[in-house]
Amino acid sequence: MLEARKVSYAYGTNTVLRDVDVHAADGQIVGLIGPNGSGKTTLLRTLYGSLTPVSGEVVLDGTPLAKLNRSQLARRLAVVVQENSGEMPLTVADTVMLGRTPHLGTFTWSGDADNEIVAQALERVGALHLAQRSFGGLSGGERQRVLIARALAQQAEYLLMDEPTNHLDIHFQHEVLHLVRDLGVTTIVVMHDLNLAARYCDRLLLLHEGSPQAYGGPEEVLEPSILERVYRIGIEAVTAQDGELQLLFRHTQAPAVRKEYA
Ligand code: ADP
Repeated sequence: MLEARKVSYAYGTNTVLRDVDVHAADGQIVGLIGPNGSGKTTLLRTLYGSLTPVSGEVVLDGTPLAKLNRSQLARRLAVVVQENSGEMPLTVADTVMLGRTPHLGTFTWSGDADNEIVAQALERVGALHLAQRSFGGLSGGERQRVLIARALAQQAEYLLMDEPTNHLDIHFQHEVLHLVRDLGVTTIVVMHDLNLAARYCDRLLLLHEGSPQAYGGPEEVLEPSILERVYRIGIEAVTAQDGELQLLFRHTQAPAVRKEYA
């Protein structure tokens, strides 16, 4: 289990997370939701050890993250974040091979077993045919699948993702999240789209200005009265024909734009 216990974080004197609890039990997909600037990415970064909480702790299967070194962490946590790796002149296969790095010794080159793991990871995301293409030349959906393949090649037990559906069309948004669900890997994912969060996540944490507002199953957290206050928009919850929760949004008032986004 990966969990944040009463985690707070500040950039300098600006506290952006306050006493946040979240945990992902085995096989669950946990979504982090909330408006822009609510602290989702910061929380995710504390969960994969790129930021150290000011107070509270992140615990991985009973061990505080602070007690694990970088390579131990890299073998257990795979991270898929928005990045510019498209600028690197790497093939898709090379990009996925980077996921093997934590398993290779300092002076050990990758071998046949690693090549096989890379091929299997690419196959699993339906991207084996792209292996020799340049990563930078892929479409957004293809790139996202390759980055997930890299995380799979890492053979980590936990997957941490920051808005994996960003810039994808509706078809690929569902395809990528379907894929993540089918993997069965314990996942914590920053989500922007509340309807996708409802459909694919087992649990949700709603953040607002760094503080938890609701935490539980999607039906519980995606409660219009809570969301309307946090997102400052009219929200109606309906049940779609397939029984899934659907949120409809209505602009009710001119919301005050917070100065940092003006
Ligand atoms: P979200 O992912 O919900 O949009 P973030 O975690 O990115 O929120 O940001 C939370 C707050 O922390 C925002 O007010 C943002 O401006 C601030 N922040 C994020 N990154 C930095 C940084 N590197 N330095 C200073 N402030 C930051």
